[in-house]
Amino acid sequence: MTQKELFAKVKYFIIDMDGTFYLDNHLIDGSLDFIEKLKTTGRDFCFFTNNSSNNVTVCAEKLKKMGFPVPDGKIVISTHVAIDYIKINYPGKKIFLLGNERLEADFANAGLPLVKDEPDLVVLGFDTTLTYQKLWDAVRFLDKGAVYIATHPDMNCPTADGYMPDTGSMIELLAASTGRRPLIMGKPSTFTVDYLTRLLKCEREALAFVGDRLATDIAIGAKHSIVSALVLTGVTTAEEHELSSIRADAVVERLSDLADYLD
Ligand SMILES: [Mg+2]
Repeated sequence: MTQKELFAKVKYFIIDMDGTFYLDNHLIDGSLDFIEKLKTTGRDFCFFTNNSSNNVTVCAEKLKKMGFPVPDGKIVISTHVAIDYIKINYPGKKIFLLGNERLEADFANAGLPLVKDEPDLVVLGFDTTLTYQKLWDAVRFLDKGAVYIATHPDMNCPTADGYMPDTGSMIELLAASTGRRPLIMGKPSTFTVDYLTRLLKCEREALAFVGDRLATDIAIGAKHSIVSALVLTGVTTAEEHELSSIRADAVVERLSDLADYLD
C-alpha cells in the first residue's frame, strides 16, 4: 500500500500536541501548513493529549499565544475519556481524585462527586500537587477494594528542563504498595478510541493518530488497526522506532511532511 492509499479513508487526524504540533512554546515549522492541507482535502483534526494536569483552557491559551487559536471542542484530554467512562459505568459513585486543581475542577464541573474519605473509586491523574497524605489515603482506599482508574500511562512528561515524573510513575509507586493496577484511560487505550469515534461520529477507519511517542501515540493505532504516523520532532528517534516492536504506519521528520500523503 502506498502512503497515499494509507491515508485515503482518513477523515480525522488525532494530533498529539507537545513534540508533535509544538515544542515547548513554539509551533513546529510547517504545523499550520498541515492544518491548511487538511482543510483543502476535506479533512478535519482534533488535538488529543494524555496530560491530565492541564485543562482545555490552558491548552487553548497556549495555542493562542503561539498564534493558532482553536475552539475548545478541538482539544481532547485523557480527562474527558475518564469522566465519560465513569459517568457511564459508575454514575453517582464517590471519587477520591489524585489531581491538581484543574483536574479537580474538570471532575466537579462534570458533576462527579469528589470525596476525601470512603470513596467507591480512586482516580489517579497527573497530580502535580501530589502529597504523601494523598498517596497514603489512596493506598488505604485501594486496600479496601475501591475501583481504580488512571487517566493515562505516561511515565515521564518532557519539559524544557528535563523530565517530570508523570502518572505512569505514580501507578508504579501505588502498585508497589498495594499490588493493584488501574484501568488506564487515555492513549493507547480502547476507551480513547471508543470515546473519539463517538465524539466525532465516525468509524475507526476514519481516524489517524499522529504523535511523537511510541507507547501512546503510535501504540493506540497499532493496537486497534488504525493508521498511525510517528513524527521525529519529539521524544522518539528513527533508530528507536526501528528497534521497537511498536510500529508506525508512516514515519516523518515533522507533521507537515504528512501533507505530501494527502490528496
Ligand atoms: Mg507528545
